Order: sequence, then structure tokens, then C-alpha cells
Amino acid sequence: MKGLVLNAEWDPRPNYTITDSERTTRKAITGSSVWRRPRVAIETVPDPKLGPREVLIRPRACGVCGSDVHFYETDKEGYMLYPGLTRFPVVIGHEFSGEVTEVGKDVRDLRRGDMVTCEEMIWCGECTPCRDGYPNQCQRLEEIGFTINGAQADLIAVDAKYCWKINALADRYGSVEWAYEAGALCEPTSVAYNAMFTRAGGFRPGGHVTVFGTGPIGFAAIALARAAGAAKIVAFEVSPMRAELARRVGADIVLNPVELQQKGSPARASIMELTEGEGAAMHVEAAGAPSKTVPEMEESLAVGGKIVIIGRAAERTPIYLEHFQTHAAQIYGAQGHSGYGNFPNVIKLMAAGRIDLTPIITSRFGLTDSVEAIKKATKREDGKIMIRS
Ligand SMILES: [Zn+2]
Ligand SMILES: [Zn+2]
Repeated sequence: MKGLVLNAEWDPRPNYTITDSERTTRKAITGSSVWRRPRVAIETVPDPKLGPREVLIRPRACGVCGSDVHFYETDKEGYMLYPGLTRFPVVIGHEFSGEVTEVGKDVRDLRRGDMVTCEEMIWCGECTPCRDGYPNQCQRLEEIGFTINGAQADLIAVDAKYCWKINALADRYGSVEWAYEAGALCEPTSVAYNAMFTRAGGFRPGGHVTVFGTGPIGFAAIALARAAGAAKIVAFEVSPMRAELARRVGADIVLNPVELQQKGSPARASIMELTEGEGAAMHVEAAGAPSKTVPEMEESLAVGGKIVIIGRAAERTPIYLEHFQTHAAQIYGAQGHSGYGNFPNVIKLMAAGRIDLTPIITSRFGLTDSVEAIKKATKREDGKIMIRS
């Protein structure tokens, strides 16, 4: 079969100490310190073998993620930008939906023809964090499209326990094709859901919500805040195209933080003004720039307010704890999307028409043109690029 393969050279930076487990598994914990000269190409790869608990899926829609772009982009020394868990070569693609074409002999709840989307995090279910209810912190984590073959391919085999049916989306959208695209958005949407509701426990309806950074996770956070009964939703975004999409998925006001800064009026002032001095019940960090965003958030917290950290950043962020004491405020760290009904609840919200993220899809490519899709994504002029087949 054909797949979009990412390959790179294992060449740890001189100052990076490789652990024994990294050496034996060839799974780099900090990809950007290990993998050099990445390249992507459509290649012929062996068909996946179907295990007894697995289903074979023909991917029909697969989103290009910021991580995929960071696999491809490099720094001055030629190291890839993506800083996370990685093992190459690998077929990339992890935000997908597709049709089940074959089921292993021990699969009970899925059958041929089912429409599904899948978790990307392959949690083991046996390590202590998994058994304690932290699948997103699994110690033996594998990740589809990062450490094991992903969905930018003709076929993928996935254990049935990571799959969720999206047949209901076809009824909502009245189109199987459209439902597959919505299905491929479940993964990034579940990341926002996990952070805001599972980890942080949500906010009370009527609270104000801000979202800093409106990439796909920020768009999902806006739509979910709207569905959960936020009073005002204020977003901060630099790109005019993304600001427009943020409005389309439910933001009331989108402000450009750079323009605000030039005017000498920080984001915190706008938030306090727009919320009539109350502040935000929930601030969502989806910009990956906490050293810039958190100082604005902590000065514009409602009493009992929450800061939810989703964006990734390899930097220290000074915080003024006094605000958290005087406002009975909390800060929540989150990663991943597995467990706690995250995926099925997102699918139900889509099926009920409470959230619709499909307006963020701005380009579509076929699998054979997927290298072009990655190149286009580096220009950062799209909401979400979909690979369709
Ligand atoms: Zn992703
Ligand atoms: Zn585990």
C-alpha cells in the first residue's frame, strides 16, 4: 500500500544524553534533540497485519496537524522542530476517520462498514498511571503517526478499544463525506475537551471564557465553551484568517494581541473591560506562548477562575501566586484526549449539532498530493488541511 512516510536520521545532539530505553527502542523522548534531516515522501509500505483485537480501517479523512509540520521543519542545524515522542521511519497522520474494512476475530463491538475515528494515544492500560486513571500519562505510550504507523495511508490497523463509532455524524450532516471530515476533527476537539472539562472540571454556565491562540485546538475550545454556556467568549489571535474562523465557530470578540501591545493596552485590560470588571471564569492557553499569555490571564481571573494549559512550550513561565490566592484560582495542566468519555462526548456534541468545527477546514488534498499538503501547511494560511480519500 501507499503511505506518507516521514524519515530522519538518528543523530542525537552532543549535549543530549540518550537514555537506555531510547537506545533500545529507538523511540526518542525529545525528537527535536535526536532526529536530523527529516524528509517526507509517498512510499510503498507493507500492508498492516490484522491482530485478533484489531480492526483494519480505510482512512477517508485525515487532518494535517501542527506536529506534522514540525516534523518537517528544521532548525539551523537541521534538527526537526517537533519536541516530543517519535520513532522514524513512520507513516504520519493521527487526526483521522475511516471505514472499517475488516475486523479481527476477537473484536466484539465493531463490524465491517462501521464509520470510526480513533484515539491517537495508544495507552497500555497496565502501567500505574493507566491503572490510576491517567491514560494520557501512560508510561509505555505509543502514538499513532508519531511512533507507530499512522493514517496518511491506504490502510491502518488499530486495536478496537481505541476506536469510536461516528455513524451518528452521517445522520447529522446528511452526508457520509462530510461526516468523515467532522470525524477527523474529533481528535483535536477531544484534546480541548479533556483539558477544559475532564482535567479542569469546566466552568459554570454564565462564566466568561477566553481562548489565547486559535489554531485547531483553540477553535475547538471556543466551540466547546459556547456549547457549555459561556457568557462571553473572547479570543486572541494574530492571523486575520484564523480570527475570522474563530468568529465562525463561536467567539464573540477576537482581538489581535500584537496590535493591543502596540497600542500600549495589554490583553488583560480588554478582558476586564469586556467582562465589566469580573474577569474570566476560564482562560484557555492554546497559543503555546505561556510566558506571554499567562501574565495576562492571571491579571484577569474571575474569583474561582481557572487557567487551562494546552499549548506546549519548552520555556519557564513566571507566575504571581498571590493572584491565585486572592482569587481562589487554579491552574490545570493537560495533555492528550483519552479516557473519561472525552471522545464519545465530543462525537455526541457533534451529532447533536451543539458543536460544528467543519468550517475550519480550508483546504483538501488527495493522499498522492499529501507532500504538497504538508508544504502548504508550513505557510500557516489555513485553518485545517484535510487529506481525503
Ligand atoms: Zn495533532
Ligand atoms: Zn500505561
